[in-house]
Amino acid sequence: MVTNTQKQKKALKQGMLDNVMRQFDNAADIIGLNPNIRKILEVTNNELVVHFPARMDNGEVEVFTGYRVQHNNSLGPYKGGLRYHPTVDIDAARALAMWMTWKTALAGLPYGGAKGGIQLDPKKYSLAELERITRRFTYALGDNIGPELDIPAPDVNTNSQTMAWILDTYMSTKSPSERSKNMHVVTGKPVGAGGSEGRDRATGYGVFLTIKFWAEKKNVTLKDKKFIVQGFGNVGYWTAHFLEKEGAKLTAVQDAYGSIINENGIPVEKLLEYSQANKGSILGFSAAQSIDNSEFFGLDCDIIIPAALGNQITSINAPRIKAYLIAEGANGPTDVEAEEVLLKKGIDIIPDILCNSGGVIGSYFEWLQNRNGEIWQLDEVMQKLEKKLKESFVKVMNTSTDRNVDMRTAAFIIAIERLEEAYVQRGIFP
Ligand code: NAD
Repeated sequence: MVTNTQKQKKALKQGMLDNVMRQFDNAADIIGLNPNIRKILEVTNNELVVHFPARMDNGEVEVFTGYRVQHNNSLGPYKGGLRYHPTVDIDAARALAMWMTWKTALAGLPYGGAKGGIQLDPKKYSLAELERITRRFTYALGDNIGPELDIPAPDVNTNSQTMAWILDTYMSTKSPSERSKNMHVVTGKPVGAGGSEGRDRATGYGVFLTIKFWAEKKNVTLKDKKFIVQGFGNVGYWTAHFLEKEGAKLTAVQDAYGSIINENGIPVEKLLEYSQANKGSILGFSAAQSIDNSEFFGLDCDIIIPAALGNQITSINAPRIKAYLIAEGANGPTDVEAEEVLLKKGIDIIPDILCNSGGVIGSYFEWLQNRNGEIWQLDEVMQKLEKKLKESFVKVMNTSTDRNVDMRTAAFIIAIERLEEAYVQRGIFP
């Protein structure tokens, strides 16, 4: 029997792939993309599905399903995160891998796009079990990932610790003389294990910067502006941290457990402390009140930052949105129908492939440092990140004006044209 929850999950997954394809088609039509190159870009290069066993704390063995989809590598090695979530499946991985190709192309990085993960609910497993699951997944992926082939990074429910386990497992399968050459097989590692200063905050800082650039362009100040954040993990927290420092006010937060509100402002660092001590949940935070999840997107505020999962802003909640800016920290949070509604209402959307690209740019810096045996200081990383993001932002704004298109279409046009140029210049083997 198919339950309602299963139906909802299915709709969510199909939606993401459908959305990324429609976004691609829209931009490809506008630029009149070469039909042969279109055929290549609308499918993924490689799709790996692995079933692997891991031992649980009680001695039983459980079998898990993991995915890695490599969409395109014409500009460089595949790059993209690993997600641990019940909604991870082949279509979700395909959609997220495609977004990575457009994101790295837009940022002007020497990378392609990939994504993957394991279909599981990490809340159900102990830390020791998650370590064994991660290590066995890495072993199952084998040489389908690699520092010059496909470089994973953290995503939903994975973090620097997950990357350290992957690195250690991957290196352990190499001969001793090869081991240290493989440090850049993953990015988002802890600084002590070959990570880069600033990678932890790179995505959130980038989301904040794109909001700041947008505000400068519109001649508005961020001081006292009310913002709400969906998802208080890596991206949501760091975005809120930097916005609060700029004088903006966090008035509501939603996470996997529920939603909270305080019109006078929710102190970001206190909420972080609370959620860390409360198994990652914001519920029960004393300086805010609980509200129903369905109220969240319609709350009175200036800026909404979705920083959780895909397809959260839909044609159902979009008409109720009062904010004038949506900054997409998450990948694919706004579906195509919702976007039409929002644009008609005059709401600006900083699209995911620009808004959260600080993460992959930070990852690129980590990869470069590992590759070249360098260690950069935090201020150096942050300055380089800002420079790169500013370049992308200006390009997107200029293309949006020149072509008279919204920011997402502009961002897709820049990305697709870069890929098209590479294919035209190189031709197709043989
Ligand atoms: P995370 O695991 O650190 O945090 C995820 C947050 O989302 C948690 O607070 C969780 O409770 C919340 N959440 C989960 N399901 C939810 C639901 N149904 N409703 C409301 N909240 C829910 O993950 P993250 O790394 O911060 O990633 C968040 C988003 O940002 C994802 O879409 C990811 O693809 C995107 N992203 C992440 C990075 C990165 O560097 N980590 C880079 C670019 C984009």
